[in-house]
Amino acid sequence: KKILIIFGTRPEAIKMAPLVKEFLKHPDKFDTKVCVTAQHREMLDQVLDFFEIKPDYDLNLMKPGQNLFTLTADVIVSMKPVFDDFKPDYVFVHGDTTTSTAAALSSFYAGIKVCHVEAGLRTNNKLSPFPEEMNRQLTGRLADLHFAPTEQAKINLLLEGINPKTIFVTGNTVIDALLYAKDKVEEVEDDQIESLKTIIDKSKDLVLVTGHRRENFGDGFINICKALKQLALQENVQIVYPVHLNPNVQKPVNEILEKTKDVHLINPLAYPAFVWLMKQSKIIITDSGGVQEEAPSLGKPVLVMRDTTERPEAIEAGTVMLVGTDTSKIVNHATSLLNNNQLYEKMSKAHNPYGDGLASGIIIDCLLKSN
Ligand code: UDP
Repeated sequence: KKILIIFGTRPEAIKMAPLVKEFLKHPDKFDTKVCVTAQHREMLDQVLDFFEIKPDYDLNLMKPGQNLFTLTADVIVSMKPVFDDFKPDYVFVHGDTTTSTAAALSSFYAGIKVCHVEAGLRTNNKLSPFPEEMNRQLTGRLADLHFAPTEQAKINLLLEGINPKTIFVTGNTVIDALLYAKDKVEEVEDDQIESLKTIIDKSKDLVLVTGHRRENFGDGFINICKALKQLALQENVQIVYPVHLNPNVQKPVNEILEKTKDVHLINPLAYPAFVWLMKQSKIIITDSGGVQEEAPSLGKPVLVMRDTTERPEAIEAGTVMLVGTDTSKIVNHATSLLNNNQLYEKMSKAHNPYGDGLASGIIIDCLLKSN
């Protein structure tokens, strides 16, 4: 069978890399090719380098001033020649990005079967997160096979009338990627890790921050930055914040936090350095989906700066707390987590509900069985 794996952003690349590697182990069964849209360019390339993946098709679609309209149109139009050239039997897309939804629609138009990895996550609030929730719902409608990371995700799909025979619970491939990276980062020579070592003050509690969600642009990010500024005033706290390249994030972060004592604003890190930094941190404050799935496997409690979540499993498991973007709420929760040992131990020792790192192999077994 011919398999075309399509992705475009950093998180998709991290989560699809283990699946690409697993497919490539079976050249007798699959002819596997990778197509990147490069919805992100630099951040995508860093991941491709680390996992040693060379795309067969690179659409290089990232443009200055890129928006959802032009990107969606560009992905749809650019897929046709790729399909004509490779003629895949199955297209694999991931999660909830514009790349995934547009590529799934193109595959549907071309009569190619769509396989959706990380299927079935839902907030059921079409504006939160925007546009990801609609992207994942639309991709779910277009998909022929649904690889759900958890039982809850499967239930979400069943509630939408998806045929149960097409849904497989696999765990999340992000854990496969993390387990690959976690030990490797201790061995590799990495300039980013070396420079992180020079800024980290081991006598303080390291708070790692990331944020990029469109729904937090504007007031959300302003409130988040004010909270970080207050948190950094505490004697025992040091904040390291790799700032996403989106100008809507860069602007408030630089305006409010530049030159703040004990706040280190740095460029987004390549995946190995980010994994290394997660390992050094005491807690993580983020609006990222992937980070809240990864952190529990490293025993790091996570505060999520959102009001809704498509990842309730993490909250139920006790590894994650939803704190929204209210300044005092973020400060209060972070402070109690940093100072209350009992609460900290409970969160850091909770079990990761997103799997044990075997998801990619399970996905391939399920694909073979579904034939
Ligand atoms: N990540 C990274 N470098 C960074 C920040 C995050 O490599 O500076 C990784 C992180 O380990 C996770 C993924 O990027 O696997 C999450 O990406 P992001 O938060 O952008 O997207 P989301 O997961 O919310 O879709």
